[in-house]
Amino acid sequence: MADYDYDLFVIGAGSGGVRAARLAAMSGAKVAVAEEDRVGGTCVIRGCVPKKFMVYASEFTKTFETAKGYGWDLGEARFDWKRFLLAKDDEIARLSGIYVRNLQNAGAEVVHARATLKDRHTVEVEGKGTFTAKKILVSTGGRPWMPKDLPGIEHAITSNEAFHLSELPKRIVIAGGGYIACEFACIFNGLGVETTLVHRGPNILRGFDDDVRSHLAEEMSASGIHIRLGAQIGKIEKTADGLVSGCLDGHELKSDVVMFALGREPYTEGLGLESAGVELTETGAVKVDAYSRTNVPSIWAVGDVTDRINLTPVAIREGAAFAQTEFYENSTSFDHEMVASAVFTQPQMGSVGLSEADARHKYGKVDIYLAKFRAMKETFYGGAQRCLMKLVVEQGSERILGCHVVAPDGPEIIQMAAIAMKMGVTKPQWDATCAVHPTLAEELVTMREKYTPPGLGQAA
Ligand code: NDP
Repeated sequence: MADYDYDLFVIGAGSGGVRAARLAAMSGAKVAVAEEDRVGGTCVIRGCVPKKFMVYASEFTKTFETAKGYGWDLGEARFDWKRFLLAKDDEIARLSGIYVRNLQNAGAEVVHARATLKDRHTVEVEGKGTFTAKKILVSTGGRPWMPKDLPGIEHAITSNEAFHLSELPKRIVIAGGGYIACEFACIFNGLGVETTLVHRGPNILRGFDDDVRSHLAEEMSASGIHIRLGAQIGKIEKTADGLVSGCLDGHELKSDVVMFALGREPYTEGLGLESAGVELTETGAVKVDAYSRTNVPSIWAVGDVTDRINLTPVAIREGAAFAQTEFYENSTSFDHEMVASAVFTQPQMGSVGLSEADARHKYGKVDIYLAKFRAMKETFYGGAQRCLMKLVVEQGSERILGCHVVAPDGPEIIQMAAIAMKMGVTKPQWDATCAVHPTLAEELVTMREKYTPPGLGQAA
């Protein structure tokens, strides 16, 4: 140890870096963690957490509508964007402070500055000098990817700026059909903004189950979002009346704000990885093995910068596994199989395991159980929102390969389903579970009829 300033130097205090730094420090190691922005990373500062607050804020519109159907008389509801932003920023500052305190309480040193690699054991910290470390963990996360050559792209914002708009726009155009585009389309629509989603593909949310994608697109359209599929923005112009997005098919869309959500890229630029000889993948991510080891024996990487599964809980588990292996003599690798995920659209979506298409491709014959229905909360007042629940089951073994839920609280439901599926639950075991009544989730354990997708006949 005497040879190095630190046992561990962590670059980037997001979900993965913070978990690794805390656990390593708690083992008695001398740990520093450098962060150029506020501590907490994408999740806490400009991602999951502020996004969820925006989801909550935007869901009230439907709640007010529902309340009327349940006998409530409400006055005129008005939303104060600036008041919301102030409250949101206060809460984010509080949470970031907790992250800092937790690090310090664990014994880690928090360095509020940008750090870059000089060589395999040395980091340079802006304004503070160079430090050596026996081990270095790169956990710098990702950042929005933008098509830099698109004419007028400087007029577009990313999700980073969407959290700080000085005014709530009247009209917004959102490019992309992934998690961020869909979630923000629902947020802005819920807040009363005229919202248009422009996506190049035939349907939103590529990679998810096709029934889920179609169902969600229908529900989003029914809630008032204009979804333009097979369309792409080719240029953006600023006019006296706002912004005009010119699509490649010649169609023009007018709005006050244009937001691009075309994916995120690993944040490796200017990090000095080449000085240390760290290999990158073709997509610019840090290349790691199952133990988050890079090709350089003293350097590891976790989280979005490695572009494995770019989700906060995954980064946390990768960071924890690294700390267990390197500081607790407990060799641990995180299992990236059967990781559930959620898209906080309206209605929300939760998914774990394989889509029907992927399951058919991998396992051949599968059984499908599918239910689409209006929840009793909706039917009571004549609401139109429909839920979808779907199970994909391997024929023969009866193992549940995929579970997909589009419903209010779908993500809460899927967390429980993920436990059983991680344990390898079969359909008979699943069905032996008695329903909880009256709930939405009971539908999942009462689906008995096999569903034959249109056009599949006996081949299913
Ligand atoms: P995604 O990768 O989810 O989606 C990117 C979207 O942009 C896709 O619809 C893609 O289309 C489209 N796209 C990509 N390149 C182009 C292009 N050149 N021109 C036009 N369209 C393009 O990225 P997001 O930015 O939405 O989110 C990034 C990641 O962040 C997610 O993958 C997820 O891991 C994480 N995240 C998770 C959340 C959650 O857990 N709820 C919430 C938000 C983010 P196509 O499908 O055709 O490729």
